[in-house]
Amino acid sequence: MAIRTVPYNESIHCSEKCLSKFLNGKLECDCGNDIRIYEWFWEKDEGETNFQLDPKNFIVTFHPVYSSGTSVVRGNKPFQQNMHYYWEMKMISKLYGTDVMIGIGTKEGFQNFTNYRFRFCSMLGLDNQTWGYSYHGKIQHDKLTRIYGEGFGLSSKVGVHLDMCTGKLEYYLNRKPLGVAFSGLKKKELYPMACATAAQSSMKLICAVSQEQTLQMLCLQCVHQNSYLYEKYSSIPGLCKIYRQKYFWMTPKISTSIPTKEQEEEELYFLALNNNSAKRKQEANYLVTPKSNKKSSTEFCSSREPNLSSNSNRASPLRMDLQHVPNDSLLRFLSQGTLDHSDDLDSP
Ligand SMILES: [Zn+2]
Repeated sequence: MAIRTVPYNESIHCSEKCLSKFLNGKLECDCGNDIRIYEWFWEKDEGETNFQLDPKNFIVTFHPVYSSGTSVVRGNKPFQQNMHYYWEMKMISKLYGTDVMIGIGTKEGFQNFTNYRFRFCSMLGLDNQTWGYSYHGKIQHDKLTRIYGEGFGLSSKVGVHLDMCTGKLEYYLNRKPLGVAFSGLKKKELYPMACATAAQSSMKLICAVSQEQTLQMLCLQCVHQNSYLYEKYSSIPGLCKIYRQKYFWMTPKISTSIPTKEQEEEELYFLALNNNSAKRKQEANYLVTPKSNKKSSTEFCSSREPNLSSNSNRASPLRMDLQHVPNDSLLRFLSQGTLDHSDDLDSP
């Protein structure tokens, strides 16, 4: 697939002014509608009264009249293997109630929703076929929940980056990455999903793009994770702008902050959760073990993505190779399109 560029617009965020466009319980401003690429939309279900779609199938209104349980909507296409997907939902109503969630799931996971029709629950992640991020700021899979990021509400834009090359999923809140939430998603047939328990809760699909993995993308990922490289990359005139247009959803992940005691404790707690989850799966005969790795697949990931150097055994083969490419060659590749190891950007 050809790489498409999109007009990059910094002003995607809602402001006080947008409240004047809050009509009939729905936010009607255009903030965040800058991408305008939709490769899929929400699937209509003629017999379904638990949610309503607009004529273009972008806006979902859950429980349009009143709510008597949980409603879930699914995208019209499954995700393909070896692709990157990014989609974004803008919350256009006030959120309240038991839960409002954004996530993914298998066909089976979607069919299971009939069990929750008349129950108010956080449906995505209640079983091992769905994965979700709640408006309370938690993520959930296979009945295990973890504090993940900020909560979201009216005017928030929740982005999802699903990397079907590595099987990892990361959420974004207002275009800021929140760290990898789930892994072990490779080789599954997954659909985008959203669920809500609150009457008249409404959200709008504002973009749905996909991209084949390219060497350019991997180089950019390396640069985004290395503060020295990122500084150098940012100093090359115009370069950032070009790549921001191509990969608007890829954001630098440079963290200079030292983890706090609470964060460390949370990490330990999450590790314990994972062990627990793995054990339960063994019992249930549902254990996905990567061929080359004796460890069981981890469904939750650390909120702090480890940097490339400390993460070599978990990186994809192509990414591992890039580790041995001199830093400046990565920058040269991004600025000139050739990956040449033999010389250095700084040499005369
Ligand atoms: Zn707005």
